[in-house]
Amino acid sequence: MSRLVVSGLRAAVGGQEILRGVDLEVDSGQVHAVMGPNGSGKSTLAHVIMGRPGYDVLGGSVTLDEDELLALPTWKRAQAGLFLALQYPTEVPGVPLEDALAEALRARDDGEAVDVHRRLADEAARVGLDARFLARPLNVDFSGGEKKRNETVQLGVLRPKIALLDELDSGLDIDALRAVSRRVEQETKETNLGVLVITHYSRILRELQPDKVSVLRKGRIVATGGPDLADELERTGYAGYEDDEGETPPAPSAANADPFADPLL
Ligand code: ADP
Ligand code: MG
Repeated sequence: MSRLVVSGLRAAVGGQEILRGVDLEVDSGQVHAVMGPNGSGKSTLAHVIMGRPGYDVLGGSVTLDEDELLALPTWKRAQAGLFLALQYPTEVPGVPLEDALAEALRARDDGEAVDVHRRLADEAARVGLDARFLARPLNVDFSGGEKKRNETVQLGVLRPKIALLDELDSGLDIDALRAVSRRVEQETKETNLGVLVITHYSRILRELQPDKVSVLRKGRIVATGGPDLADELERTGYAGYEDDEGETPPAPSAANADPFADPLL
């Protein structure tokens, strides 16, 4: 049983405070969805939790099983059991996926115990990623959908305690979306994975069923609820969720609507 706890997290980038006191928790086996409009700080939150360079942490804490992560470099956070699927996965010329994963498992002392080749082939099959991608340089010239399937394969092979998924659904067609979200949902049961899923749209939450849904707006969590909250956001957009400065939110607009939503649902 693991627990990720983010409390009072404040962070700046480029001299501007983006996260203004974020509190949330993710437990093993649980899915916590963080939804919010563009620019609300969702990716910043994921990056700061994982320790991506370039962000100034101004306050608060991030603990995994009561160990403070904020002082650790990214690789130690990964070693502790944290995983981040990037919104925009990085291309790594010259490094095939299997080498990268074997190295990651060795760093976690699982290098000998795990048959990487076999687990990789198995995970790729489960999300419908063709085996020829496994030997190619990581993400180089992959389509958007292939990159996201690839992130899901890495998650399946590494079996972290807690995964942060930053818009795993962006750029995916319906079949790919179903494949990756189903796979992650299975992992919450098979390996007791805890998931922080960051998304604009509730589509991904049809297969990957959230226990909790929080709304991030202007760097703060402004509402938390159950799965119903995602359905409500799908209907109304984010307009009803003001931040605590009492600003008048923009009226609901087509910009908030999911262009891929099934009109019959
Ligand atoms: P989201 O993922 O919710 O769309 P982001 O976390 O990517 O939002 O961005 C939040 C805000 O931080 C935006 O206003 C964005 O322009 C700003 N921001 C993000 N990264 C940088 C950066 N490297 N330099 C300056 N501003 C940034
Ligand atoms: Mg983002």
